[in-house]
Amino acid sequence: MRKQVIAGNWKMYKTLSEAKQFASELKAKQLDTTNVEAVICAPALFLESLVNETKGSFISIGAQNMHEEKEGAFTGEVSGQQLQDLGVSYVVIGHSERRQYFNETDESVNKKAKAAFENNLTPIICVGESLEQRESNETESIVSAQTTAALEGLSEEQVKNTIIAYEPIWAIGTGKTATADDANDVCRSIRETILDGFGEEVASAVRIQYGGSVKPENIEELLSKEDIDGALVGGASLQVDSFVKLLEAGA
Ligand code: PGA
Repeated sequence: MRKQVIAGNWKMYKTLSEAKQFASELKAKQLDTTNVEAVICAPALFLESLVNETKGSFISIGAQNMHEEKEGAFTGEVSGQQLQDLGVSYVVIGHSERRQYFNETDESVNKKAKAAFENNLTPIICVGESLEQRESNETESIVSAQTTAALEGLSEEQVKNTIIAYEPIWAIGTGKTATADDANDVCRSIRETILDGFGEEVASAVRIQYGGSVKPENIEELLSKEDIDGALVGGASLQVDSFVKLLEAGA
């Protein structure tokens, strides 16, 4: 049985006081989290406060990006070592916004995934096709190539502990969601790619999230599908009430 993971991706939203307020309200909720992991991926500036605010609660904290080197002359960057030192436990890698605006490539995603494991961070690796790619029936080949490249050189144990987030680019922040069946088909094809590369035990352990306009109204159907093990959520993770509904759907 794979445990669902509901991860909020706050992107570049909220002030520090709003972030702290969110965490203190969320941790006060009585939620059954036996079958669901709750993760908040926040701007780097808020990570330390959020880790402190949520210590001992059901909430884990993640970063939205990291640099692949441990340390060095990389102005403006944050390393995995620094994240681990703060008590951060997850890191989003290769989000389509980073691939599109910050020149992330399959190669940098792979380096970051390796660096995440070196620093005891669980990577949430994002893959997904553009609208043009979907329309020309390239979805599965694109997503499979991104998955293979991202996981290249990782051990079986590391892949088992990786989270893949399938996020069709055309569904992010647009209100358009892939149908639950389409999302599940792509998540299954990701699992098959992992099966080919790493074998049955790894493929059945790895968790695959769907992301792209997930909200309380559509999450239940998405999570009811066999190969979808959670969600990476932007807009609907910004309000405590809606994030709670997402977690309840995963529980
Ligand atoms: P959205 O964003 O839920 O606002 O579509 C998802 C994401 O970018 O991870």
